[in-house]
Amino acid sequence: MKDEFQIETMAVHAGEGPCPTTGALDTPIYMSSTFAAPTTDELAAIFEEKQEGYVYTRYGNPTLKALEDKMAALEGAEAGMAAATGMAAITTAILAFVKAGDHVVASTSIYGAAYNFINEKLPQMGVERTFVASSDIGEYERALRPTTKLIYFETPSNPVLQVTDIAALGKLANERGVATVIDNTFATPVLQRPLELGVDVAVHSATKYLCGHGDAMGGLILGQRDYIHRVYRDILRDFGGVMSPFNAWLILRGIRTLPLRMKASCANAWRIADFLNSHSTVERVNYPGLPSHPGHELAKRQMKASGAMISFELKGGYEAGRKVMDGVKVFSRAASLGDTRSLILHPASSSHRAVPREERLAIGISDSLVRLSVGIESGEDLIRDLEQAMES
Ligand code: PLP
Repeated sequence: MKDEFQIETMAVHAGEGPCPTTGALDTPIYMSSTFAAPTTDELAAIFEEKQEGYVYTRYGNPTLKALEDKMAALEGAEAGMAAATGMAAITTAILAFVKAGDHVVASTSIYGAAYNFINEKLPQMGVERTFVASSDIGEYERALRPTTKLIYFETPSNPVLQVTDIAALGKLANERGVATVIDNTFATPVLQRPLELGVDVAVHSATKYLCGHGDAMGGLILGQRDYIHRVYRDILRDFGGVMSPFNAWLILRGIRTLPLRMKASCANAWRIADFLNSHSTVERVNYPGLPSHPGHELAKRQMKASGAMISFELKGGYEAGRKVMDGVKVFSRAASLGDTRSLILHPASSSHRAVPREERLAIGISDSLVRLSVGIESGEDLIRDLEQAMES
């Protein structure tokens, strides 16, 4: 099921259908680690990929396949591969492109653990890396070397909401024979379809908006069929970070309401960003929907809406931020994002605590930065909650 349908229809139907044997309309959860074959020869043929079928869940599972197909349809990709977590998807996607002696260019404005993986773990494997601090495509170009195999980036980025020109970066990479991987967790394919803009691979923390209910961890990698097969054969099958079929089922269920949830969360986020922007205690608001955001025009071009993530700094530094965080009653003080519930987080002491302070400041994550993941509650209640916490 591909582009002849709108994303709302694909989110419900793609990758799924009645079970051919029982007619069960909802995708069954195949909680089976292994699968029996009628004969020795057939088992061997499936192992050797000469025949379609399942042998062992680390090698593939029908519930995971439904999720992979649904997400491939949503992202406009040829194929998809599920992984145990977003980080399993990110590390797998990168490792399928590089080997010792290669070079990677990455944005500094990416999820903290992805930054650590590229900054610390890749060099331990003999892979060199250069970080680019701004969204300036010229800086990416200057960072390229003859050995560069991959550009890795995130837009809008976590947690400063930096917006990078996907089409321009994809074009540069294509011209130079370099692959591109984007973390599309914040936008989801509902707001942004990077493969259509020339990027090779999209990765997701499915733990976030795709699942949407804060009850399952997962990751997804979407790209061309050959690449996804390489991801499976060269990395995931042997490294072993596969998703549980139960989590795949929860995430499949979550994706069916993804367009509805994104619409509600984005509408709330827009109102909250506007409220924060005019509040006397707020120093700065990072939200691509605000005309004052440096990536506002670009976000309007490459995104269908501005997303539901906001970060902001209060006058009065960390102490003021801590008071607001302690004062909220509807927002939950919690890591993660993309939940139906609204969440509030202090990146410097949580998601980015492992990033050295100097590096953290250089990428715009000050000690007082507070991040909001706006959920689907009443926007009015959320604003009232922030207002009373800020007045306190
Ligand atoms: N990418 C982004 C943008 C994230 O925010 C996160 C986690 O917060 C990840 C990737 C990692 O995902 P996971 O926690 O599912 O491994």
